[in-house]
Amino acid sequence: MFLAAAADDTFFESDTWGVVRNLAIFFALVFWAATVYWVYKDARRRIEDPWLIAMATLLGAVPPFVGPLIYMLFRPPEYLEDVRERELEILAIEEQLAERDLRCPVCRGDVDPSYLVCPVCTTRLKQACAECAAPLEPIWQVCPYCATPVPPGIVTGEDVLQPLRRRRSRGSD
Ligand SMILES: [Zn+2]
Ligand SMILES: [Zn+2]
Repeated sequence: MFLAAAADDTFFESDTWGVVRNLAIFFALVFWAATVYWVYKDARRRIEDPWLIAMATLLGAVPPFVGPLIYMLFRPPEYLEDVRERELEILAIEEQLAERDLRCPVCRGDVDPSYLVCPVCTTRLKQACAECAAPLEPIWQVCPYCATPVPPGIVTGEDVLQPLRRRRSRGSD
């Protein structure tokens, strides 16, 4: 009885308590470091500016354990690679639209890729195949519809109809 009471009194000063306390501090530190590292890793995937990444990591470190929660409330909703992918997709769609958006080089009227002549200002846009009368692209050496060779030099540079790039042409128009 006496011995047990004595053991209870000295428990918190004993080596066992010291080890348990040190272990608890050690695991808290490891967990804290892990949360800081997680914030750093997550911020790098979402934020481009290195200073903002540093600020986010600092917030993840201080206050401990609460900082990462605050970071999660304010972090950008998307990953950078998703943003880039979406921008590329939009760019590709715009390019596709621009390719369809053919215009007469003289009057800027809408024309179809199959038009030989601009219906508005009667400018010749393309040469017709001598055999099947299909509209020929200026760089074609042979008609793809009937395999008739295209005589060289029938289309001059002025006749070449370029698709307008919407982004670049907006400023110069
Ligand atoms: Zn025209
Ligand atoms: Zn042809």
